[in-house]
Amino acid sequence: MSETYNIGLGNNDSETRKTAESDYVSFWDNQAKALSWFSPWTKTLDWQPPFAKWFVGGTINASFNALDVHQNTRSEKTAILWEGEDGESRTLTYGDMFSQVQKFANVLKSLGVQKGDRVTIYLPMVPELPIAMLACARIGATHTVVFSGFSASSIRDRIDDSKSKIVITADGGYRRGKVVKLKEVIDEAIQNFDFVEHVVVLERTKNEIKMSSKDKLWNDLMKNASESCTAEKLDSDHPLYILYTSGTTGKPKGVLHGTGGYLTHLHSTFKWAFDIKDSDVFFCTADIGWVTGHSYVVYAPLLHGATEVMYEGAPDFPDASRMWDILQKYKVTIFYTTPTALRMFMKFGDDIPNSFDLSTLRLLGTVGEPINPEVWKWYYKIIGKEKCPIIDTWWQTETGGMLISPLPGLETIPLKPGSGTRPIPGVNIEVVDENGASVEPNTKGYLVIKNPWPGMLLTLWGDDEKYKTVYWSKYENCYYPGDYALKDDDGYLWLLGRADDVLKVAGHRIGTAELESCIVSHNDVAESAVCGIPDEVKGEVIIAFVVLKQGVSKSDILEKQLIEKIRNDIGAIATPKQIYFVSKLPKTRSGKIIRRLLKAVANGEKIGDVSTLEDGAAVSEVQQSVEDLKRSMNT
Ligand code: ATP
Ligand code: MG
Repeated sequence: MSETYNIGLGNNDSETRKTAESDYVSFWDNQAKALSWFSPWTKTLDWQPPFAKWFVGGTINASFNALDVHQNTRSEKTAILWEGEDGESRTLTYGDMFSQVQKFANVLKSLGVQKGDRVTIYLPMVPELPIAMLACARIGATHTVVFSGFSASSIRDRIDDSKSKIVITADGGYRRGKVVKLKEVIDEAIQNFDFVEHVVVLERTKNEIKMSSKDKLWNDLMKNASESCTAEKLDSDHPLYILYTSGTTGKPKGVLHGTGGYLTHLHSTFKWAFDIKDSDVFFCTADIGWVTGHSYVVYAPLLHGATEVMYEGAPDFPDASRMWDILQKYKVTIFYTTPTALRMFMKFGDDIPNSFDLSTLRLLGTVGEPINPEVWKWYYKIIGKEKCPIIDTWWQTETGGMLISPLPGLETIPLKPGSGTRPIPGVNIEVVDENGASVEPNTKGYLVIKNPWPGMLLTLWGDDEKYKTVYWSKYENCYYPGDYALKDDDGYLWLLGRADDVLKVAGHRIGTAELESCIVSHNDVAESAVCGIPDEVKGEVIIAFVVLKQGVSKSDILEKQLIEKIRNDIGAIATPKQIYFVSKLPKTRSGKIIRRLLKAVANGEKIGDVSTLEDGAAVSEVQQSVEDLKRSMNT
């Protein structure tokens, strides 16, 4: 199906997989021992489908495991190398983080926050964001971080849903050199919300703000706060946070995560996937407003006492060289980003990354969407200089941490561009048909997870019924992630796109990723999204939207080449009825393509919840293209 790349880090631990296969529960029991517990658990897993409780009876604290445990050995070690969008930088050691978090935990207590209360955090990517999260975790408050790009009405919904007592925000945040007035957004978002008792305001941009009686400045509160705050001993399933999903398929879901199981999952996957060493400089580009930021910017690196880069701004600001400049400046060794970001970097050409010294890199990763093999190869060659393994990590907000990924820290296996390879040890993932029966190798079907895993969500916040229907009703006692996939002859998993987006043409089912990767493999193409529209004769026909690389313009020849390519690589059945060249695609604020919008527009349906849409102009452009098509079909 594809070429393989034999590149690893020389690790070869076959024992871990063997033990996991013989008994996943005792396997995870063992993994959990790597963390610091106040008291041990009496039962490893209490599984009352579909509700799982891990490490029952054990008590633990996330902030204690991220900070206190390092104070004897690493208090002088850098935890966060922070780079502001404006070029400002700050370095925070494990000792600094420890004292800041304790102080802010005392601030929260002084504002009346108690164990179990929810705290909404609406901050830009500044060190105070992880500090606030860890302070919540320290006293057992449940944080709910909302991406700082969201509008007042989106954040209002989330504050209302979680009934947060406290909101933490900033005067403003920098985005592409402009100040986004976050405090103003919060003022609007919490109007008439009497349950919000206080708003804590960090001064980041020093723009003018209106202060009401509820509002308190971060610095004023911190001045008088005591330096010492003991971490609460919390039950393993104590709710650590609520986080709303990206909203690619519709209205975001409030995913609730616990503590002991979640941290165990993160501790193990961070070690296996990233092969983390004390000397590494780790850089995950995700915004903390998304799950990747929660798990692999905040919790996992700190559990390991790692040094990491945190960047405040847009990846292409002030220009397309910003990322490579950061990698060079901080001598980054491990880089974890998204296919969307890579496609953007690729669009700008090779000269930019080639002009930076990226020689410290030893491992690369991606997450968020299927990575097109062409993009994988570019990442491998131009960024990794053919010496870094790439880990393509599949997971979801709901899964808490990675579930499918190459694990160079554990084992060396040949990589195939576009495949996440195999499930992590201790989870049982299969590809099944509509009836839940495992399919033959190379047959497409639905991804399912057949056993509970430690990072698994506890439920959807305040909605156990929805939790059951969304994830556990399609197949009995099997978690259904909603993704389409296949397993090849070597047992490698290929994620083919979302199950809802699958194209059904002439009795065939094609995952969006298959067709899009084919289109993206043309030299002139930067991005592509495909969807189906009804057709009287064929049932459904495919239309494709294509964004070209910089400096390339659309032409009939190019269109013919793309069609030829699809016919050759996939087959005539996958030939799109129409190819549209557009300048951008509709994406979520987390950067994922929203195909359901293309489909809704193309089918003349209501476009539904668009609160997570990044840029309405992309939808208008698509709407225009589709209208043009309809007009031409009617004439
Ligand atoms: P919503 O659930 O609200 O529609 P979302 O699914 O985009 O939003 P996330 O939890 O951020 O919210 O994304 C998880 C999804 O992202 C997965 O179900 C999968 O479709 C996709 N995904 C993540 N990583 C990968 C990957 N490595 N390969 C393929 N797809 C991936
Ligand atoms: Mg999802």
